[in-house]
Amino acid sequence: MSQTSDQAKGGTNGVGPGQASRIAAGHGPTAGPTMDDPSGRSGSRIEVTVPMFGVLDERSLAQPPGPGGQRREEQIRRREAPVRGVTLSTPRYDSRTQPAPHSTARRIGKIYRGPAESRNENKASDRLDDGYISSHQYADECRRARDEGNGKLRGHRTAAVLPASRRRIRSQYVDLDYHHPLEDVLRLKAVRRLLGYISRSRPGRRTMIEEILETYADASAPFLTRLKYWPFHLFIDRMRGSVSRETFRKRVAEHRATVRGFVTTARSVAEFGLTLPQRFSAPLFAVWNFTNKCNLRCRHCYQDAGGRGLPDELTREERLRLVDEMGEAYVSMVSFAGGEPLMDADLWPVLERCRRWGIHTSIATNGSLITKEAAARLAATGVKYVEVSLDSVHPERHDAFRGHPGAWERTVRGMRNVVEQEGLRLGIAMCVSQRNIDEVEDMLRFAVEIGANCFAHFNFIPVGRGLEMAHDDLTPDQRERLLRTLNEWMNERRISILSTAPQFGRTALAYAGSAALQPCSHVGGGGGTKARVVAKYLGGCGAGRCYVCIEPNGTITPCVYLPHRVMGNIRRRPFLEIFRNNEFWDLLCDRDRRTGHCEVCEFKHYCGGCRARADAYYGELNAADPGCLFNARHWESLRKPHD
Ligand code: SF4
Ligand code: SF4
Repeated sequence: MSQTSDQAKGGTNGVGPGQASRIAAGHGPTAGPTMDDPSGRSGSRIEVTVPMFGVLDERSLAQPPGPGGQRREEQIRRREAPVRGVTLSTPRYDSRTQPAPHSTARRIGKIYRGPAESRNENKASDRLDDGYISSHQYADECRRARDEGNGKLRGHRTAAVLPASRRRIRSQYVDLDYHHPLEDVLRLKAVRRLLGYISRSRPGRRTMIEEILETYADASAPFLTRLKYWPFHLFIDRMRGSVSRETFRKRVAEHRATVRGFVTTARSVAEFGLTLPQRFSAPLFAVWNFTNKCNLRCRHCYQDAGGRGLPDELTREERLRLVDEMGEAYVSMVSFAGGEPLMDADLWPVLERCRRWGIHTSIATNGSLITKEAAARLAATGVKYVEVSLDSVHPERHDAFRGHPGAWERTVRGMRNVVEQEGLRLGIAMCVSQRNIDEVEDMLRFAVEIGANCFAHFNFIPVGRGLEMAHDDLTPDQRERLLRTLNEWMNERRISILSTAPQFGRTALAYAGSAALQPCSHVGGGGGTKARVVAKYLGGCGAGRCYVCIEPNGTITPCVYLPHRVMGNIRRRPFLEIFRNNEFWDLLCDRDRRTGHCEVCEFKHYCGGCRARADAYYGELNAADPGCLFNARHWESLRKPHD
């Protein structure tokens, strides 16, 4: 059993709501950070008092924004200049902060504020004001551990995945600025102009990028077309490295969603240049909370879903129109969530419309409605990936959490139906909290046994009904150990691993060499240096930057966990215009405007902190993510009883 599981078993389960709970957090007197105890506080255990929900009401927690913060907010509100290529139909943004009327946040009167200003004048990454180890020390420790271990990370299985020639890991492999020569090319003005040219929309025709990729290594393509794009095909030959032409065609050129992603990326680089993190001219990925209807009532539901859905949900015509807007904007992936998306009959025509556009679709479901027929229908409408959530390998624990006896059996039956259906891949999603952290490795083994392709760790965020179980959140130490465990599993390659914790990118960089796997975003990753370069631009939190959430009533928010930060509504403004003209965009694209250690972190290009967790705890979108090791002092101050 891993450290993760052992720690969880050490007394954190069974913390009940409605009471002050004392959680043994494994904290002790400072002993100096080490690789095995990055917080440097292992030793005698002390208890941290975790008051019930009141601790999360930021009226008693967050500092009021200073005059600088108010000024900046006002500037953002007044910004009216349209972004190139998009015409504003309204002189002012209709973006705002507003919990939905049905939500837990509204019921309990939770307050969310504008952006915070950093008051810390020390901008060095080795400052210890925020945690017991700084990002600078952490990176140094990782380098030292590799040097001392002569390439074998002590106590870690990750080194084993490296080829023998790479076992002697040199210190620069804990590199925070992985570089690829293509970056230099993409910075050239002429190249940016060329990207803009070949990615522009043409009436009645596909973009040139699509034609270039689709005719690459295709002997059946018209000769003149191949001749026209010959220089581009030569360039692809140079860039594809050891990947064969056939594999490239299959994975990239013939995969319409990937081609769409290339178009969006080319347009983004043409418009904004290479930026860290990368700004996008349109979202690459959207999660669509299709309906609030749900046949379960789970305690951690971010959507406050259940029962009959909301009265103002989009009509079928509006939904189809939205797909067309996303299709025209070259959104490449849409994941349908809820509520329970399979409870809404409109799902099928909408999936069909996505398929016609070449949008990659996936479903996030509780699995209870996936019969063999439903699985076949999903595959027929082009769905590739079905993510089923499961909280426990023990039926009685899962059922208690979901509030329905027999839910586990129905869910697992649904999983088996997905596995047996050709064309579908199964992911098992687990939201990890104090209630089930002791089961993570059991769940991973279960996922492998049942034939799942992917395990998706959902980082607990106290939003929606999750606000009422915030006392079950993991400590930064627990999260760190969990992510290290997931990193080990990822590199054993028995199953794909995803995590919505943006710190996953950091642990992957720190605990494995450059040949190992690296998450590039919440939806995927890759191996080697190229993946690390991509992660530098794309990685970590993508909220409102390369990804958005669509609520059942057409409201667009930066992330499913930020339902109160309203970017706009598609009933009032076009989808793309909302994405690019809202008061949160600049803030979310600027990782220097953070507080706590996120402001100075050496890993910020790969992480950026979870904006939803920051917002949930402080009511400030750019606050420190208190779930991170480097912000452990902030976590502890949140957990102290307040007067
Ligand atoms: S706020 Fe960012 S890191 Fe957090 S869940 Fe959303 S996209 Fe992921
Ligand atoms: S959460 Fe913030 S401090 Fe922690 S690794 Fe991410 S950017 Fe750095």
